[in-house]
Amino acid sequence: MYLWKDVIEMSKSLPLHQVILNLEMFETGEDPDDLRNKLSNMLKVILEEAEKQYGKTQKTLTGFTGDNAYKLKNYKTKFISEFNHIAMVTALSIAESNASMGRIVACPTAGSSGVIPGIFYALYKTESPDFNTLLDLFIVAGGVGKVIADRATISGAAGGCQAEIGTAAAMGAGALTYYFSKDAEKVGNAAALVLKSIMGLICDPVGGFVEVPCVKRNGNLVNIAISSAEMALSGIKSLIPFDEVVDAMRRVGNLLPQSLKETGEGGIAITPTAKTLISNLRFLV
Ligand code: SF4
Repeated sequence: MYLWKDVIEMSKSLPLHQVILNLEMFETGEDPDDLRNKLSNMLKVILEEAEKQYGKTQKTLTGFTGDNAYKLKNYKTKFISEFNHIAMVTALSIAESNASMGRIVACPTAGSSGVIPGIFYALYKTESPDFNTLLDLFIVAGGVGKVIADRATISGAAGGCQAEIGTAAAMGAGALTYYFSKDAEKVGNAAALVLKSIMGLICDPVGGFVEVPCVKRNGNLVNIAISSAEMALSGIKSLIPFDEVVDAMRRVGNLLPQSLKETGEGGIAITPTAKTLISNLRFLV
């Protein structure tokens, strides 16, 4: 287990992605080259699936979702950049693929599996970095996720959606910030800005299916990752350091009642419309 403030110190003499690989080696004994290879395979799948699923219609288990990525891909955006548009379409595509039993990398979880592909595929399409550069960013994203997993949780059932989609967006913001700054402190600021923006976000899947609100949260939260990276890159700091924000997130997660932690017994899951949709599901009767 390590603190981000220690990572910042160590990155003064070594690139951040190397620091994270070394820390992992100290903790688990895993050879940094082996770990890099393992992560490389995961990233390849992420990029392959992003390319394959991009903007497709999908048939999800319940039919509650499945055509959002298609709609957004074919819509001419009015406000957001090309980068955001690609990131959102990708995030929706992968989240819908997850809901359709497609191949995904649960990074950090299945429910939040669209955000990281959104960030990495948008970067790949707009900036054309080589694969090794993307892999360095993926390692940094992993380091951000590990701090949260070690000190809090990345599970919606344990800490609410702040822990799932929040972690995904913090990882994505960290990766983007590292690409443009190579600065560990700014990476920590970007991750902290994400978590502070969505702290307390509950987990309330309709019928317990990872579809509503999960799919569209992926499409939205990828933008919070991008805007947090933009703020951190501009020099905006999080007054509360990343490590302390993670501690705060853990405490908030512990305070959330069970009904708001993946039980489908609170939030939008108990609205009249949700109840009607569930009672009309033919495969449940
Ligand atoms: S609402 Fe719950 S199941 Fe859906 S993405 Fe968030 S944490 Fe996962």
